[in-house]
Amino acid sequence: MDNWLEALPKADLHLHLDGCVKPGTLLALAAARGYPLPADNPEDLLPYMQVEEDCDSLKTYLDKFGFVLPLMQDTEALARVAEEAVEQAAAHNCLYIEVRFAPALHTDEGLSADGAIAAALAGLRRGEAAYGVTARLIVICMRHHGEEINVPVVRAAIARHGQGVVAVDLAGDEASHPAEKFRGTFVVAREAGIPITIHAGEAAGPFNVREAVESLGAARIGHGIRLREDPELLAWIRDRRVPLELCPTSNIQTKAVASWDDYPLRRYYDAGVYITVNTDNPTVSGTDMTRECQALVTRFGFTLAELAGLMRGALEASFAEPPVKEALLRKFDEKIARLRNDSTRED
Ligand SMILES: [Zn+2]
Repeated sequence: MDNWLEALPKADLHLHLDGCVKPGTLLALAAARGYPLPADNPEDLLPYMQVEEDCDSLKTYLDKFGFVLPLMQDTEALARVAEEAVEQAAAHNCLYIEVRFAPALHTDEGLSADGAIAAALAGLRRGEAAYGVTARLIVICMRHHGEEINVPVVRAAIARHGQGVVAVDLAGDEASHPAEKFRGTFVVAREAGIPITIHAGEAAGPFNVREAVESLGAARIGHGIRLREDPELLAWIRDRRVPLELCPTSNIQTKAVASWDDYPLRRYYDAGVYITVNTDNPTVSGTDMTRECQALVTRFGFTLAELAGLMRGALEASFAEPPVKEALLRKFDEKIARLRNDSTRED
């Protein structure tokens, strides 16, 4: 079964650029920039970049990003990490990934938001050429930033919509910064016709999910795991076919959900909620798409056919350009047919 899980074609729709930096890469970036790090080999550096299996809080989790961000402030570093995000996805047979990042967190050394976006796109393109994975970029606005930062970020995303950028997002402290504050920012996105996904219902309650869809125009929801606290709203999301970008390992580590036993993934799925399963932050969470799929099988009894359906649904929920999406779905169906043939031959 391990082989089947590895070979299963996959899509990762929720993947943070600053959450998938390889320790060896951080060492190389630091060495080239004369930046001191507390370890001189990948193994000893990893604990600074990755939470332990029983991560104690969201704060411990978020601190891991603060550790890598100082070294992701120039074109070369951003492009390299983006290219390696594609490389890592290819190792798990992802056909398609949407990598996301907040350009405003990468401007400490003079890059503009557009410069940061251009660098990330250049890296993704290099990765696409080298590893055969289709990769697109989602541009994030931060909840602790005001319109004076977020509106220019959205405009920079709009300027490259269709050239690798596929959507805009909102991330950060959901509990302290409600949707209302971002209405103006996302009106700019809506008027330009760039799709919107919003982190909501992760660190704060289900009401944020309704706000994200109704006030901000979200077509997908990042996480949304706390929707179970409001069955009526969960049904509303189900009926509207709003895809949830679930990230099981991460959601448990950040304490959005207490444990695997408590994780409502099977319940959502059986109730007909449109779910997708993603990594969020492979390095920080110590995960990858194969592991997430494995967890669905061992923790929630997903069959391989159900997993394949979930991955196909993720491709359909993707923000890829329509002809690209059609080609990806064809490729996916061919790979699944081949996998089925191979497994029957083995029986
Ligand atoms: Zn996220």
